[in-house]
Formats: sequence, C-alpha cells, structure tokens
Amino acid sequence: MAGPEFLALDEVEYGRVDQVSPQIRRVIAENPSKFTYRGTGTYLVGRGDVVVIDPGPRLESHRRALEQALDGERVRAILVTHCHADHSPLSTWLRDVSGAPTIAFGPHPRPDPAVVADVPADELEPASDAGDRADAGAPAGVVIEESTDHDFRPTDAVVDGDVVVSGRGLTITAVHTPGHTSNHTCWAFAEEETLFTGDHVMGWSTTVVSPPDGDMAAYFASLRGVADRDDRVLWPTHGPCRTDGRRYVESLLVHREEREAAIVRALAAGPTTVPAIVEVLYADVRRELHKPARRSVWAHLVKLVAEGRAAVEAGGPARLTSVYTAV
Ligand SMILES: [Zn+2]
Repeated sequence: MAGPEFLALDEVEYGRVDQVSPQIRRVIAENPSKFTYRGTGTYLVGRGDVVVIDPGPRLESHRRALEQALDGERVRAILVTHCHADHSPLSTWLRDVSGAPTIAFGPHPRPDPAVVADVPADELEPASDAGDRADAGAPAGVVIEESTDHDFRPTDAVVDGDVVVSGRGLTITAVHTPGHTSNHTCWAFAEEETLFTGDHVMGWSTTVVSPPDGDMAAYFASLRGVADRDDRVLWPTHGPCRTDGRRYVESLLVHREEREAAIVRALAAGPTTVPAIVEVLYADVRRELHKPARRSVWAHLVKLVAEGRAAVEAGGPARLTSVYTAV
C-alpha cells in the first residue's frame, strides 16, 4: 500500500513574517537540515497580545526577525513543544526581554545511563527515520542536528488538558503527545480549531522516534490521540500545514504498523539484531542512512518486547546491541 502522502513547502523566505491564517503568523528560521526540512517555523498567535510557539534555534538572524515581528506587541506566553535545539533555545532570550512565562511539559529528562552506556559512541548522534526521508527532498545546507537543549527549564510546567492561555480571543490548551520526546506537547488553539503539532506530526516527513527518550508505544498512542481530535488544521514546526489531519495521521499509523509487521516477520526467521533487520528493511535505501534507521528499528523492538511480541535473547532491557528473538 502507498505510504503517507508528504507535502512540500516551496518558496521560503527566511525571517519574513507570513500571515498564514486570520490569527496566526509564522517566521521561518534559516536552519534547514535533514531534521528541520526548510527550517524551524515559529508561530505568533494573536495581534497586540501575542502567544509565541517554539521561538526556535539560537540563531542571530532568527532572533532579530522575531524582535522585529514582535515590535510594539505584548508577549503573553511562550509555549514550547519540546526541547530539541531547533525549538526551545530562543525562549530564554524572549522570556528575558518580554517578561512572559515559558510554558512546557517540563525539561528534557536525562536518559537512563545504563541504556545510553550501551550505545556505541559512533551511534550516539541523533537519529532520523532516514529511510522515510530519503526521498523527501530535504535541502542541503546548514546542518544543525537535532540535539537537545538540556538547559531549558519552563517557568510554568503543564500537564495534558491544562488551559494555558484564555481570554481576549485566544484559548490554548496543552495536549501532551509523548513519543518523539517524552515531554513533547502539542498546543490546541480553540478559536481556529487548530493544533500546533511541533515534531509530533510533520507534514513533510515521518517523525524521529529514538530511544531511550523517544518511545514508539507512546508515539502510537499519541498519534491515535491526535487522529481522534479531528482538528481542522495541523500546523507542524517544520513544513506546510495539513488540512487532512485525521486521514493523514491515520496513514502515519498504518505506515508504522507496516514497519512493525516487517520487523516481526524478520524475527520469525531466527534470532537477529537491529543492524541485521535494517539491512533487510532498508535494503533499497542509501547506506549512509542505515545508521539513523537503526534507531527507528530499535524503538519498534523496545515496544515489541514490552508488549511480549519479541524477546531479548539474553534477557534484560531491549538495547541497540541486543540479540532479539520471536516469542
Ligand atoms: Zn524534535
């Protein structure tokens, strides 16, 4: 079956303020890469009294663009979907100059050192679901990897369902969507029936789910949650909006289920490893993308072991270096 239908974002002018809906403006940072596509989209919601979503990377040109865009306006709140380096770092600057609170699920948790210690040093770079992105047309250019902003501490930590902004025509609610990261949160803007989806649902590509913080089981559940919300528009941090949210998110779920089924079939042929499974599943994908693909396969195996649908041959936690068997 055909995979998810990805959309391209053409015509990007970095630093320009684009009015993308009656109440939403977007400024794109010049940090294109295989993780960020054309760059980070920072959203400004409202006029006069403004809510800023994902201020973006520590990039002087983007900071200046936001400064200009916000000139004469009052920042009510700074919302952060998660603390990857292309999303949260400028929130500290914006908090300092505006006095507005930074609101997020919480800081990035420190991963289990036992699991991380087991990952070979040359595998520690961030992962991407590269097999799916190989033909997504990510532009060559500045590469800012999807590293983590461990310094980020929100002034206000929220949980799922918290109304974080209300009044003066803006109602925004936290929708906790763990998976890409454990603290990932989407923001629902009621007046426009819009969900700001961060990296949880992206229009142009599948999402990176990389253990130990990335969690495939949580990601499946969070995708289901977004499909069932039926928002009119999804605005991801990277790439174009989606107005076919339910259908698109359902196709992402099917895509992951198919990949998972292929992994289960690979296990049925005998004990195997993450790299061996990648050799089979990503046979038609460029070899330099195999390493990031391992993180995705590992994430599926962690889920399968937790569900009792696969086992670690030697027992213990499901690791990148484990030998896996069918059950
Ligand atoms: Zn991210």
